[in-house]
Formats: sequence, structure tokens, C-alpha cells
Amino acid sequence: MNTIRISVNLEAFKYPDGTVALADIRLDVQKGEFTGILGSNGSGKTTLLKIMDGLIKDYTGQVLLDGQDVRRLHPRDIYRKVGLVFQNPDDQLFAHNVFEDVAFGPRNMGFEESEVKRRVEEALAGVEMAEYGGKNIHAMSYGQKKRVCIAGLLAMGHEILLLDEPTAGLDPMGEYRMMELLTRLNRENGVTIVMATHSVDLVPIFLHRLHILSKGRVVRGGAPEEVFTAPEEMANVKLRLPHIAELIYRLKHEDRLPFGRVPLTIGEA
Ligand code: ADP
Repeated sequence: MNTIRISVNLEAFKYPDGTVALADIRLDVQKGEFTGILGSNGSGKTTLLKIMDGLIKDYTGQVLLDGQDVRRLHPRDIYRKVGLVFQNPDDQLFAHNVFEDVAFGPRNMGFEESEVKRRVEEALAGVEMAEYGGKNIHAMSYGQKKRVCIAGLLAMGHEILLLDEPTAGLDPMGEYRMMELLTRLNRENGVTIVMATHSVDLVPIFLHRLHILSKGRVVRGGAPEEVFTAPEEMANVKLRLPHIAELIYRLKHEDRLPFGRVPLTIGEA
């Protein structure tokens, strides 16, 4: 049975300077799913994640976390369940040492030091950084810092992770490893993940569901194969088809391919 963890029913949100960042957003985050919020820069992804995390409150409409109005929940009750990883890890890390940074959350939650240690070690192992606990944060690479941020949330026991462009700034291999890590957390640890991204090629390979944001509105949503249909529709929202979807589209609709005509069914000449 599907269980909705976060239900967004947002009429509008504007920043104090009058910029309408989001309007008419209706979407659900299902338990155990890996969901993408896909959109070009400025489409409203970060703002939407902040609303889901209860950091922005002055919108019209309603956002429910496990059926409860996020704006009425005590921050402590939100942070027990949901954690937001910012795009730039330097905005989130503040201790000098990796262990201390990851320990901050569970310590704040009042756990005994032995339990804090257990949680930190498990979280660092979860992001494949078990041996880095004693290291200086400033000696970590950008990708490692992103992993430490995720570990900090895992150590608090969050069941829902909101990630803002987790692969931004990573090289292709770092990007792939980050996506593998998130997939493992989702599949094996049951963490529900919402990821904001503008990297279309990641979506069909790793995500269960996506919502495309354009100028603050959700213009399409569904499983990747339902959403990525035609190149011109993507261009309308300043995105392109993922390479794999583009290839399939061309196989179906064009006779000329860089490597010649490919038979679509066995026996077709
Ligand atoms: P994205 O994450 O998709 O790049 P954002 O959520 O950061 O988009 O921004 C959505 C819109 O809100 C953009 O037009 C952006 O310029 C505007 N915006 C973001 N933050 C602020 C702010 N603090 N004050 C005013 N406008 C903002």
C-alpha cells in the first residue's frame, strides 16, 4: 500500500521583494520512493525543498508531513523525520572535524555519548566514509563534504532526505557514485528521497518519479517513461530529453541515425 509522507498543496509563495517563486504546486511524496524535482535554474526547486522542510512558512496553501500541517509542527518534530541537504556543503558544515560535525545532530537530540558514537560510525559507514571520522573537514573534497552532510542527517535517523542538487560540482565519476549511494540508501535503508536537480540524464536511470518545475509551476509529473516523450516538450521548459530517451525517440521516429538504421524488432530488415 502506498503511504504519502509529504503532501504539497501550495497555492502560491512569493519572496518579500514580490518574486512569485511558486504557484499551484500539487504533488505527493510516497514513502520509500526516490523522487526528482527537475527544472532549470530559477525554476523554484530550492524554494520548494525549503517549504517541504518547514523553513519557509509564509505561503498560501498547505503542506502535510505524515498528515500534519508542517507549519503547526514544532521544528523538532520536523527534524526528527526530514532533513535537507543544501546545495553547497560549506553552508551546512561547521565543525572542524568530520566526526564532530556528524555528531552535532544526535548530540543535540540528547542521546548518550555511546549512542552518539554508534550513530556517527554507522552514518559515516553508510556514506562510505568510515575511515574519515578523525579528519579535518577542510581537507575533504567537495564530494566528500557532500557525503558528510548526508551522514549528519542519517545520524539523526531521518527517514526522508531532501537533497538540493546533490551532484552539482562533482565530476562524472563523483556524480555516478553519489547517485549509487543515494540509490542504496533508498533501496536498502528505506530512506525516502526527494532530489532537486537539473541533470536530466540522471533521472531515467535512478528515479522512480519526477515532477518538472518551470517558472514556479509543475508542468509535468509521473514516472520517467511517462514524462520524457518528445524533445520539443522539453525545450518548452528549458530542458532537453535525457540522452537515453532521445536515442529511443530517434529510433522510433527517424530513419537516419549516426550509426545507421537499427532494426526495431527481430527479423525487421
Ligand atoms: P532553483 O532552485 O530552481 O534554481 P530557486 O527556488 O532558488 O530556484 O528560485 C526560484 C525563484 O525565486 C527565482 O526567480 C529566484 O530568483 C527567486 N528567489 C530565490 N531566492 C530569493 C530571495 N531570497 N529573494 C527573492 N527572490 C528569490
